[in-house]
Amino acid sequence: MKIGVLALQGAFREHIQMIANCGCDAVEVRLPHQCGDIDGLIIPGGESTTISKLIDEYDMRDAIISCTFSGKPIFGTCAGAILLADRQNGKKRKFLNLIDIDITRNAYGRQIDSREADIQLAFSTSTPFHAVFIRAPVITETGPGVTELSFYNGSVILARQGNILVSTFHPELTGDDRIHRYFLEMARKGGS
Ligand code: GLN
Repeated sequence: MKIGVLALQGAFREHIQMIANCGCDAVEVRLPHQCGDIDGLIIPGGESTTISKLIDEYDMRDAIISCTFSGKPIFGTCAGAILLADRQNGKKRKFLNLIDIDITRNAYGRQIDSREADIQLAFSTSTPFHAVFIRAPVITETGPGVTELSFYNGSVILARQGNILVSTFHPELTGDDRIHRYFLEMARKGGS
């Protein structure tokens, strides 16, 4: 199995390392044709405005959408989750619109905009997961088709709809590979 990591801006190297540590191939993806050769795609955290501009500059928007429609799993972390969201602050985003959630950027405020917390994963309850939030967004609403997989401070921080997975935190920055393994399992099952 080969997982692509969108490598236009942000924390893509850490995701590549994490996937490699899980024993799978991980490749940097920058060009549309590379999407044909992967079994899943990670959109990393970074700066969502910058990444969205680069996605269009590199002509990647349609490639990401067709990757999704072909059933391959897509995992967006932090800025990646913002890019995949259908709505932002109650308004339809005009971008990928691949998961039925409403999201607010930088929603933990300016002073304490980065934090760490032990959270529970719905699919792995044995030990808590140490979540790192960096100027994180908050998911304010999830549609009926969305499964909520983890919460912090009363909001959803990890969610899945079909072959789309999003987290508002950075699982690639901890040594804990459970969320990446969950994503690889989605890829192994062809996104289902
Ligand atoms: N604050 C960033 C944004 O709104 C996201 C931060 C991150 O990806 N760690 O794009």
